[in-house]
Amino acid sequence: MPYPCRLPGKVMHSFQPRRAALARQAVRWLVAAGLLLAVARGPSVLYAQSEGSTYTVVSGDTLGEIAARFEVPLDALVSVNGIADPNQIRVGQQLIIPNADGSLPLAAIPTGTVTANAGDSLAMVANRYGLDPAFVGELNGVSSGARLFPGQPIRLPEEAVPPASLRFGAVVDVELPETLIQGRTGRVYVTAERPVVLSGSWNDRPLTFTSIDAEGLRYFAFLPTHALQEPNVYGLTLGYTTAAGVEVSRSWPVTVEAGSYDFQEIVIPEDRASVLEPDVVQAELAKVIEVWSQASPSLYWQDPFVRPIGAEYATTSPFGTRRSYSVGGISDYHAGQDFGAPVGTPVTAPAPGVVALAEPLIVRGNAVLIDHGRGVFSGYWHMSELQVEPGQWVNAGDLIGLVGNTGLSTGAHLHWELRINGIAVDPTQFLDEGAFGAP
Ligand SMILES: [Zn+2]
Repeated sequence: MPYPCRLPGKVMHSFQPRRAALARQAVRWLVAAGLLLAVARGPSVLYAQSEGSTYTVVSGDTLGEIAARFEVPLDALVSVNGIADPNQIRVGQQLIIPNADGSLPLAAIPTGTVTANAGDSLAMVANRYGLDPAFVGELNGVSSGARLFPGQPIRLPEEAVPPASLRFGAVVDVELPETLIQGRTGRVYVTAERPVVLSGSWNDRPLTFTSIDAEGLRYFAFLPTHALQEPNVYGLTLGYTTAAGVEVSRSWPVTVEAGSYDFQEIVIPEDRASVLEPDVVQAELAKVIEVWSQASPSLYWQDPFVRPIGAEYATTSPFGTRRSYSVGGISDYHAGQDFGAPVGTPVTAPAPGVVALAEPLIVRGNAVLIDHGRGVFSGYWHMSELQVEPGQWVNAGDLIGLVGNTGLSTGAHLHWELRINGIAVDPTQFLDEGAFGAP
């Protein structure tokens, strides 16, 4: 049923009953959230939404005449426009025209933007913010069941959109980066007014939160970013359970930017090609993944890393280099930092931790993994000799092995790798930064 109301130079959109129903739903939410007054600024007029338009006051207009012309309640016209004195309108003033039932037009709702995570539907985004999916669908001009692409901007009522730093319930502050670079590690810091058990996810992987003060009111988590992660906007989600047992969560957009990584072709000698058999590679990978997927209860390290090999040994292949192999048509990226050094050169622990693995492997050669706590592991491959045993505590500078050329290696070197929540990240970042950030 059209609502044909025309004025010179202005075309009103048709009134649709469905929009009014959605609008009432939105009002209930706004009221429930205690936000109605923030929108209304005026006396008790019911707010709802539906498509609306604006009208520019011309000479001789009165509010009463405008209300009559548009067939809308005068008090709604006064209220939606925050007019203090109905006798004081001026020529050129832009007025929002409410719906016939006095509700706020959809187009007049102040909105902000959130971004969709991988796998989100519009309904999932709406539910995450406690909003009616049909209403959010209307606001965005898409159906509530629509699949979204990661990073797709979604309009929500302004009040529902969390700013970068936001209090929600017991959480009184959240600090997080707006952008992360492929292969680098960011951090999110959370301050709470009472001890809380925080959860969260970044790139579909759970975050590991660590308390960083004695009172248990301040927490941080690493945000490891995969070296091959497609540059785009992704959602970072944080949540916790309230004192009343309700699970609450919020999402923030974080932009992943491309890193500057080189390309390298690796020529594998014929006699070593057999180690690239898929079964061998997979079985060994499963073994190391099992080790670095754990998260010890404490963070054993705080200060910046100490270089695990003498400064005179230069980098021969940096972390993140895109690689193709001469055998098997494999293309990949370099998950660690290589230092060229003669066989027998000492390799030392960069930071305190517990040796989680020390044994010969087929691809990685004589290998050591050190558990630095809370899902942070450093790895050392291709060594000629192992100098530690599993379960042993090491401090920064302690000898763990000697440089070698074992496993899938084309010359004596140390391969140094850092895994955070299982993601390989640039270990050299932590030569300049401690666990909690730059000193
Ligand atoms: Zn390497």
